[in-house]
Amino acid sequence: MKIKAPVPRPIPIHGEDFSTYAWHPNMSHDKILRVSKSSLGQFQTCEQQYFIKYVLGVKEPENDNMIRGTNVHDAYEFIMDRSLDVEHAAKLRDEQGYDAVKAYFFSLIPPAQIKKGWTDEYAKPTGEDYRLEEPAHLQRLMEAEARRFMTSAPDAFKPVGNELGVDAIVELDINGTKVKVHLNGFIDRLFMDNEGNYHVHELKTGMWKDKKTKYESMAKEMAFYVYMLKKSTQPDFGGVSVSYWGWDHTKGHENNPEEIYRHVEHIKADVIMDMLTDLKALASAHLRYKGDNDGKMFATKPSGSERFFCEPWCAIKGFCPKYERHMMPHELRPKREGN
Ligand code: SF4
Repeated sequence: MKIKAPVPRPIPIHGEDFSTYAWHPNMSHDKILRVSKSSLGQFQTCEQQYFIKYVLGVKEPENDNMIRGTNVHDAYEFIMDRSLDVEHAAKLRDEQGYDAVKAYFFSLIPPAQIKKGWTDEYAKPTGEDYRLEEPAHLQRLMEAEARRFMTSAPDAFKPVGNELGVDAIVELDINGTKVKVHLNGFIDRLFMDNEGNYHVHELKTGMWKDKKTKYESMAKEMAFYVYMLKKSTQPDFGGVSVSYWGWDHTKGHENNPEEIYRHVEHIKADVIMDMLTDLKALASAHLRYKGDNDGKMFATKPSGSERFFCEPWCAIKGFCPKYERHMMPHELRPKREGN
């Protein structure tokens, strides 16, 4: 397990300020709390897991699901940015119909892995073979995209933002105390239809299950994107109002693994309010944190959840107080315990 303590990083377009996941109120005024869709999602899943991963910097080893997800994301980004010729696809549609469009979309799937490094503007072919059934995921995705193409205006088919980096600064009122927060992240896809309506869309490589909790967590992820875009002041898409959100699950639906699961709906104000409640709870816990590695203000999962949640799913339980922090190195223990 790697450990990399978070450090304050400059906030793009807000030159003098820095943000960090490990923020606490004793830091200097130029440092503020950083929150991403993933960090907020982690806080919603388990507050203590959030504290261990984001505040202390314990990194879960990369597993096959993460690698597959990155590879499918990079390949799709490459197709949209670099290889899809919309005019050619429109000609095929008009002259030969759906089967020709589908064959064309399938032909765009890169034959080997595509990778995008942190500093690369575009993903690039690597020549490395796929290992984790990525082509099957990409085929289901391309089939859905070919169907979408059949009913889209060609001009509105490609995203206007592809892995779009967004930054926003908001000020939250936590029981009378103002807390500045840097919201940051990459939006998988931002689309705009011919009437000017924006749509944010997320790509997942897992399987969709019809569970209320699954729906709520996906909708809250989208609510984070919608709020962040609205509050951003950056050129291009800062301040836009999004009308729709949606998501793909390329492993399909639990009752139909042959096809991608794709869901689109109007944004929901009550979900955005719920997401804001979670964001305030996260900021409130940080207000009580002293920067001493003592994360007692970040709750562990309730007693009784060990067998169905912690034991089967938590890769960092050896760092959790529930399990006596038996893997926690001395220097990461709460200061009063470690001294
Ligand atoms: S062991 Fe359970 S309570 Fe502890 S961090 Fe993991 S999920 Fe959370």
